[in-house]
Amino acid sequence: HTARGDDTFTKHESQVRSYCRDWPALFDTAVGSRLVDVDGRSYLDFFAGAGALNYGHNNPLLKSALLDYIERDGITHALDMNTRAKGAFLSTFAEKILKPRGLDYVVQFPGPTGTNAVESALKLARKVTGREAIVNFTNAFHGMTLGSLSVTGNAMKRAGAGIPLVHSTPMPFDNYMGGATEDFAWFERVLNDEGSGLNKPAAVIVETVQGEGGVNVARAEWLRGLADLCKRQDMLLIVDDVQMGCGRTGEFFSFEEAGIVPDIVTLSKSIGGYGLPMALTLIRPELDVWEPGEHNGTFRGNNPAFVTAKAAIDHYWSDDKLTIATKAKGIAISEHFDDLCERFDGLSHRGRGMVQGLVFADAPKADEVCAKAFERGLLAETSGPSSEVVKLLPALTITDAELSEGLTILSAAVEEVLG
Ligand code: PMP
Repeated sequence: HTARGDDTFTKHESQVRSYCRDWPALFDTAVGSRLVDVDGRSYLDFFAGAGALNYGHNNPLLKSALLDYIERDGITHALDMNTRAKGAFLSTFAEKILKPRGLDYVVQFPGPTGTNAVESALKLARKVTGREAIVNFTNAFHGMTLGSLSVTGNAMKRAGAGIPLVHSTPMPFDNYMGGATEDFAWFERVLNDEGSGLNKPAAVIVETVQGEGGVNVARAEWLRGLADLCKRQDMLLIVDDVQMGCGRTGEFFSFEEAGIVPDIVTLSKSIGGYGLPMALTLIRPELDVWEPGEHNGTFRGNNPAFVTAKAAIDHYWSDDKLTIATKAKGIAISEHFDDLCERFDGLSHRGRGMVQGLVFADAPKADEVCAKAFERGLLAETSGPSSEVVKLLPALTITDAELSEGLTILSAAVEEVLG
């Protein structure tokens, strides 16, 4: 651990244990896919704010929209009041994101972060159906507040709540048991078995790719099977697109490829575009049963985030260039991983678009690789129940040269640890 001894660093040491312990540097500035620390050392970013920076740090296109807005004293904080910035975001989102995809949702601003969107989705599902339980999946991650945590399948995170959490009905995620869509037939039998003691759930909440869970990719066929099961059993389907939405897997929504239409969708992280807090809950219009004020929060209308969110959609989602580039870069990462898997034993990989995981049979090696990569100037983190997966989540706007430089650093780190 680097001991810097200056005031700023000492002050940060009083923070609770967190990333700051893994990445002992005092970061100062960041542009695109590079961060710079106070000593002028530069780091390539394969982490991108855990998926909050799909368009990179201080993206110049979004920055100029934000600066213009601040320059003319645009409203910063307005709770849920009508503002021009909010109206402009909503119409751009409807015109450029929802309409071309044939999606019909009303938009709720549930609060500033992903977990706020999940909480509102869970509450709404219970209110609409009058039922309580929510089906969640092994290794799922939906956030740290109590409701979101109750549908999160991670023992360590759940332990943070101190006491057992209730109201969720866990089920294996795609391929978890080596199986396939037969899981649904089994689950449906249990749901309809009056002696099973299982109350009919209100909803199912799913990630199409489990990010925190270890880059577990659901097959399109499995997602369609799940959507069908929800219809047959009259359960709402919630897709948590907090991490995989906003283009991470290629398309704007990660469920587009499977051709399913969820009842409720949660978005956050990169929706604000500039790393500014913002979250959306998208609700099928007929399910919008909230009374005014039934779910609100002080920071649900972050106007600077509306401005950068609109700029991001205008610049990146008026055509399919970003989708094409994301898929191509995802393939480049995956081919690089093929090569590493051939050279070293105990490695495998999986992913979709620009979320790609390198899986270590010997779990602790994954953290060692991240530590070695950090020494060489690359930020990447691990995920999965045993932190066995090095998860690459670069900005979608990363240049080919930066991507290849980062992959070269990662290979050198793997070689150092496994070679
Ligand atoms: N859902 C998913 C799928 C996530 O990946 C995360 C964050 N990692 C959350 C919800 C929670 O978002 P936040 O940390 O902004 O509350």
